[in-house]
Amino acid sequence: MKLLLLGPIGSGKGTQAKLICKKYNIPHISTGEIFRWNIENKTSLGKQAQKFVNAGKLVPDSLTNEIVADRLKKEDCQKGFLLDGYPRNIEQAHALDKIVSLDKVILIDLSEDEIIKRLSNRRMCKICRQPTNTEWLVDGKCEKCGGEVYVRDDDKPEIIKVRLETNKVSNEIINFYKDKGIFYKINATNEVEQTFELLDAILKQ
Ligand SMILES: [Zn+2]
Repeated sequence: MKLLLLGPIGSGKGTQAKLICKKYNIPHISTGEIFRWNIENKTSLGKQAQKFVNAGKLVPDSLTNEIVADRLKKEDCQKGFLLDGYPRNIEQAHALDKIVSLDKVILIDLSEDEIIKRLSNRRMCKICRQPTNTEWLVDGKCEKCGGEVYVRDDDKPEIIKVRLETNKVSNEIINFYKDKGIFYKINATNEVEQTFELLDAILKQ
């Protein structure tokens, strides 16, 4: 089961990725984590990445591709994996295509209006540090622990607009996988379990 999960910010992609990996016992491959691992373990790829990070520069595609390829070669990825946050552009998609053929690419879709609505309703609890939502609060407090809640800087409307622009799922990538006949799309629902059921139905096909 070689999967790629796509979705805009606010789609709950991270949560769904964790659920899929748990159920199907496959590693969750996110570029952020691979970069951190290589940097912490001072691998040669990690050292190269560190130079760009130190210089405040974006890591080039070529290095990102190499670092993902290196991870996908590891033993635990042989029976399958779930990619999250990579490929981010068509060049990366082409590079990935050369080293592995994916079985399914699933987009968790959510309209821009819905994303803004969701993210602007999001709150963080000061006590349990878990995200919550204005609709779930009990008397304006965290529904889990009764703690006070606040709006994360990332979820302020002006920041949401910037994050939306920089994190868009590119049509080029979608079309690339559509052409291969492995592209699927579900609509993000409000319930984690419900969204997972939709995803799982595709995985079982
Ligand atoms: Zn709480």
